Amino acid sequence: MKDENCIFCKIAAGEIPSATLYEDDDFRVILDISPASKGHALIIPKEHFRNLYDLYDELASKVLVLARKMTVRLKEILGCDGYNIVQNNEEVAGQTVFHFHMHMIPRYRGDKVGI
Ligand code: 5GP
Ligand code: ZN
Repeated sequence: MKDENCIFCKIAAGEIPSATLYEDDDFRVILDISPASKGHALIIPKEHFRNLYDLYDELASKVLVLARKMTVRLKEILGCDGYNIVQNNEEVAGQTVFHFHMHMIPRYRGDKVGI
């Protein structure tokens, strides 16, 4: 289901250009426009879900499998020292885009990322 007013629906569909790292039938992985650190990326499902509460189990599983595979590969490319996998649900928890997404935030020794 697509939400006509949702920017991540448009990005996931390729209607708005983005720096895409990976794409398959279910997801697009893009670089965050306002990165917390070098290589900060977002896993975005192509289907619209407001947040984690609305995901179905199979897609929720696929998100974590993809996060695992991508961080294993990206840590070699970026040379980062660690990773935060972060996912915000509702405004009070810091969610600003109400289309489910998972942050993959590379961490570098001595960085000043506040999550
Ligand atoms: P949230 O705060 O909802 O967990 O995360 C939303 C994230 O989406 C933020 O890190 C923000 O920088 C990113 N973001 C918002 N709009 C755009 C956009 O148009 N393009 C990209 N690449 N990232 C975006
Ligand atoms: Zn959407």
